[in-house]
Amino acid sequence: MIQDIYPHIFHNEFDHPQMKDDDIILDFKDNQVLMRTEDTFFTAADVQCDDPVFLFRIDERNFYFAPLEDYDHVTADMQMIRHFRKQDLAFAVITARQVVSWMRNNKFCGRCGTRMVRGDKERSMCCPSCGNTVYPRIDPAVIVGVISSEGRLLVTRYSGPRAGRFWALVAGYTEIGETAEQTVIREVKEETGLDVCDPVYYKSQPWGLSSSLLYGFWCRTCGDETLTVDKNELSIARWADRSETDIAGGNASLTAEMIREFQKGNIPYEF
Ligand SMILES: [Zn+2]
Repeated sequence: MIQDIYPHIFHNEFDHPQMKDDDIILDFKDNQVLMRTEDTFFTAADVQCDDPVFLFRIDERNFYFAPLEDYDHVTADMQMIRHFRKQDLAFAVITARQVVSWMRNNKFCGRCGTRMVRGDKERSMCCPSCGNTVYPRIDPAVIVGVISSEGRLLVTRYSGPRAGRFWALVAGYTEIGETAEQTVIREVKEETGLDVCDPVYYKSQPWGLSSSLLYGFWCRTCGDETLTVDKNELSIARWADRSETDIAGGNASLTAEMIREFQKGNIPYEF
């Protein structure tokens, strides 16, 4: 998955490190990252940074945010970045964008309207007037592998602009007052009309493109298996067999990993 960057190691500890020439500087415009060339990022040696924002570190290399629009640059779409050749850099760019979007969305205090300042001791935005403190936004959501009474997997395609090239699984954000297990049961019911039970946790994945933390769950049907698709959410949903080899796309997502686990027969239910 995209966060699996071994042998590289991601360090998210808040710090004020000394900038080095090969540290990477990132900036974003809408859904694009600004790059020096099509396959190189700006480094500290390329730009004059007045007030760079330290983001995180991978191995010994620091990543910063600083404005880059005044430099000659090219742009790359964030959806392309996830397929970037160097997976550690793809993960870094996506995570950096999550932090930068959060900072840009919290320039002013939501409580009193004062301009916020960056926290000095932790990754936060702080209001100097009323003391309001805002931390990076991370929205919990679930990815659900629904297994039928015959051991088949429910695969879906989103409707509208979220529709990707590959098959997806049921997914959705956790609502107020809800456990992740309750999200699983509610989202499957809303999107497909199915009643499901026995949710079993699989793994989680940070997904910076949507500022989410995805919780992967398996569950199984209990009752009627007729699919009633919510056309606002999905264009199609259907049952897939283990023998179907072309339903999982890429290596980046928890969805793809769960589909591959299903194909290998690694599900937590007996049939
Ligand atoms: Zn305030």
